Order: sequence, then C-alpha cells, then structure tokens
Amino acid sequence: MKYPQIVVEPPGPKAKEIIEKDNRYIMQSFSRWFPLVVSKAYDFIVEDVDGNKFIDFNSGIAVMNVGHRHPRVIEAIKSQLEKFTHYSITDFLYEEPVKLASNLFRITPGSFEKKVYYSNSGAEANEAALKIARGHFQGKRPYIIAFTGCFHGRTYGAMSVTASKPIQRKNFYPLVPGIIHVPFPYCYRCPYRQKLESCNYWCVDFIEDWIFEKFISPDEVAAFIFEPIIGEGGYIIPPKNFFPRLRKLADKYGILLIADEVQSGMGRTGKWFAMEHWNTIPDIITVAKAIASGLPLGATIGRADIMDLPPGSHASTFGGNPVSCAAANAVISIIEEENLLENTRRQGEYIFKRLNEMKEEIDVIGDIRGLGLMAGIELVKSKDEPLPNRELLKKVLISAFKKGLLVIGAGKSVIRISPPLTITRDAIDIGLEIIQESILKNIK
Ligand code: PLP
Repeated sequence: MKYPQIVVEPPGPKAKEIIEKDNRYIMQSFSRWFPLVVSKAYDFIVEDVDGNKFIDFNSGIAVMNVGHRHPRVIEAIKSQLEKFTHYSITDFLYEEPVKLASNLFRITPGSFEKKVYYSNSGAEANEAALKIARGHFQGKRPYIIAFTGCFHGRTYGAMSVTASKPIQRKNFYPLVPGIIHVPFPYCYRCPYRQKLESCNYWCVDFIEDWIFEKFISPDEVAAFIFEPIIGEGGYIIPPKNFFPRLRKLADKYGILLIADEVQSGMGRTGKWFAMEHWNTIPDIITVAKAIASGLPLGATIGRADIMDLPPGSHASTFGGNPVSCAAANAVISIIEEENLLENTRRQGEYIFKRLNEMKEEIDVIGDIRGLGLMAGIELVKSKDEPLPNRELLKKVLISAFKKGLLVIGAGKSVIRISPPLTITRDAIDIGLEIIQESILKNIK
C-alpha cells in the first residue's frame, strides 16, 4: 500500500459535513489539533471519510500499540462476542479477567504477590489507586503528593492530582482535599532553576526539607502519584536518579508510590512499563489506553497486601468487561510473540538519532526527549531565546496533517510522536520527513 495518500485536501467534502454536525451536537470541551474524520484504520495507516490515507504517529493518543485492527485482537473480540458481552464482575465471576490478571502480574515490575482492580479508563484507574492508598491506611494518612506537570485524567480525584494545564481545573473548584503538588523534574526548564550537574536532586530533597519539615507530617502521607514520563504535559522524562531517590524517600516514611503508566505503559517505551528503565518498583501501577487496543479498560495493579479495600467500598458495573479483557489478553500475546518491545527499542533509537540531527540543523527545535516510541520535539522561538513556540506547534501539526501525517501536540509546544509499536523504518522516514518539511515551511 502506498502511504500517505492525499486525494483531496483534508478536510474534504464528506469530512466537512460531519464536522459541521459534530460542532452542533457534541459538547466541544476538547481541544482538537486538526479536523480528522476517521472512516477506517489498519496497522499504522488511518483513512478519512474522503479516502485520504495518513501515517499514524499518534495511535489514537497512545492506544493502538499493536496497530489498528490487529487480526488477533479482532479474532479475540469476535470470539468473546459470540459467548457473552457483559455480566459484571462486581457481583459475578467469569474467566477472562482472571486470565488477564495473571498476564498483568507477569509483565508488571515487582516479584511480590499482586492484585488488580478493573475499571474502564485511565482516570478511573487512578481514582481507584487514590482510594486504595487512602483506604489501606484507614484514614490515618489523608495526604497525597502529586507533581506539577503531570496529567492523570478528568474525573474529580484524577483532576485533583492533575496539574498539567490550568484550563483542566478552571471553574471546577472545590477539588478533592488533601492533595499537595510539588514540581516534577523538567530539566530543560528546571522549575528550581538548577543544573543537573550540580543540583544533587534538589527536586527530591525539597520534599523532605520543605514539605515534610514545614508543612505536613510524612506519617500522614499515603502516596506519591506521578507519571513516569509526562505525556499530555509535554513528553518530559525525569533524570536518571529521580525515581530511585523518590523510592528511597517514600520507603523512609512508609509512603506508597503510584506510577500512572496509562500512557507510558504496555510497551510504549521499549519495556513493558517505563518504571523498569529506572529499576524502581512502584507499589501500585495504573494502566489503561493501550491495554485493550481501543476497547475501554482500566487496571489498577498493586501489591496484594495493600489492595485491601473491604467488600462494598469500590466497584464498577463495566470494569473488567469480558470483551475488553479478551482484547487485552490478545494484546499481551501479540506484544510478546511479535517482539514489539524489540521493535520499539530499535525504531525508537533510530527516531532519536534522526531527531537529534534535526535539532542540530533547525534553530526552533529546543529539546528532544523520550524513550522508545514516546518521543517529544520541543519547539522554541530559537535556541538563544528558548521560549515555548505555541503558534509554530499549531501550524506544524496542521501542515503535517495536510501532507498525510497524524501527529499531535503536548505541553505548551511539543510535537508528540507515539506511533503504533508495529511502525516500520520506511513509515518513520516518511513521517519524520513530513515533520521536518512542516517545521521549515512554517518558519520561513
Ligand atoms: N493518565 C495519563 C498518564 C494519561 O495520559 C491519561 C490520558 O491521556 C489519563 C491518565 C486519563 O485516561 P482516560 O482518558 O482514559 O481517562
């Protein structure tokens, strides 16, 4: 198949009709980068309603890790559809979520005994994690420490720990109490104005010296919650010793670590979970997005000894839906049997090499960050004046869309590259070429 293939400038006439109705019928509370109207998709190709074929550098926002409509996922879904589609594990039992649990325990870090709670989304997986942490300490540790910059979802608990963009909270106060935010290590724009060579991880010491000494007692803190690599907030990767140092601090005071791997998990970074890159084992991991290849499913996986909410205290009608769980079991076997972690590492290395070359040549590329197939390009005014270049980001994404590449933004001015883990070298070359042309065209 030849890709990309633009037969009419998007949005074409059929797309325009749907866009007009969408604007009238659907609450426009999301911020869309460009008007793509999808009709079908296969592997890393997405087709719109006017017959344009795009390369997918976005994966439906880091969801389609095994590619769109993977035949084995479709087969697993169909096979479960033939049996039953719902019965609710809140009151009854069936096998698919139990099978999925043992698969998840095998691929998540930590050799201890684990348990899982199923929900329907990333936000809900995080809601559960917060309730589990507070519930485990039976109200004796009411505080949660979250990080400025991280995104955890839109429901009240998840929103209350989120601190990615003010619009996500504006007009929604009061939020859940007992949540304290400290800055996430964003070394390109260090919130403490430090340099990594000399800071000695002040971002961790600050918590002990200023929060625990002057503000709240550490024995009242249930958990830290964080993204291992910030996704929505700008593809920000912490420095090497941040998580080992945070683990040490947490252990000193008996505080739990909750890693929100909703975006960075399920192979996205070349390992099953991003925390493995830092050899740091969280107590609870939250997973959603790519877990069931587009079907709704969230999973909160944790140490068995802390997953101890009592009967009646937490549940969800659809959580652990059998069709979603069947898809998730297929996703795990595909990633294993098709060596997708290996492909992610190999293609990721290539992308970072190419992006770093681009950075040398193009003055408005300020920083290149990420791991595996989670890559960010931070656009700035210039290397001498590294202010975020929001206007350029918007223009670049639209130009790329018109040329047949689906890639969206993150943070203030970051191009976020997160293709399916099945992506080929050829498609990467074409996609990166389009990004480069789109940047150059818009700075002329
Ligand atoms: N956590 C992270 C790291 C995310 O990237 C997202 C979604 O973008 C969420 C949580 C929320 O997931 P959902 O949209 O499925 O509620």
